[in-house]
Amino acid sequence: MIRRLVIASHNAGKVREIAELLEPHGIEGVSAAALGLPEPEETGDTFLANAELKARAAVRSGLPALADDSGLAVAALGGAPGIYSARWAGPDRDFSRAMAAVHERVGDRPRAAAFVAALALAWPDGHVESFEGRVEGRLVWPPRGERGFGYDPVFVPDGHDETFGEMDPEAKSRISHRARAFAKLAAACFP
Ligand code: IMP
Repeated sequence: MIRRLVIASHNAGKVREIAELLEPHGIEGVSAAALGLPEPEETGDTFLANAELKARAAVRSGLPALADDSGLAVAALGGAPGIYSARWAGPDRDFSRAMAAVHERVGDRPRAAAFVAALALAWPDGHVESFEGRVEGRLVWPPRGERGFGYDPVFVPDGHDETFGEMDPEAKSRISHRARAFAKLAAACFP
């Protein structure tokens, strides 16, 4: 049984969501930023490859390391922004700009989209286990809601009327891409 692991992310929104997912398993999540670990360059070309690369970098701390790579995949844009979801927000991480860019590029085309998350857990012995989760939905404009982070204000999950930005965080956690990937990981790794 593990009691403590590194959350290999410097994104405060993700760290908070992952720490909350770990809590019911009695596992404390310590952020990579709190441990002063450097952020590796994300050179993979899939969510899974990037999650594994981040987990492998953080496991050098000696603790098991859990990394997330995630993003918004818009069908009309061939899956973009995808693994470049953070980059579309520019160096100052301006998600108003990223959401507007997605909206403008989609134009009149269908607004189907999905959030995708890959989670990778690297163990100090060198092996890595990884899992993917997704939640399907559609884009709306203008953005709605102050909760959540990133592209949450423009995404309405199928079967719901509120955006992830409007939704109660617990409701988001029951259906999100990250929660779905985490459920698979927990079943396999935290018996
Ligand atoms: P990375 O995985 O750190 O490279 O960046 C993923 C980016 O995708 C984040 O910065 C967010 O912009 C976006 N993203 C991932 N998950 C979510 C989510 O649950 N809500 C909103 N945006 C998300």
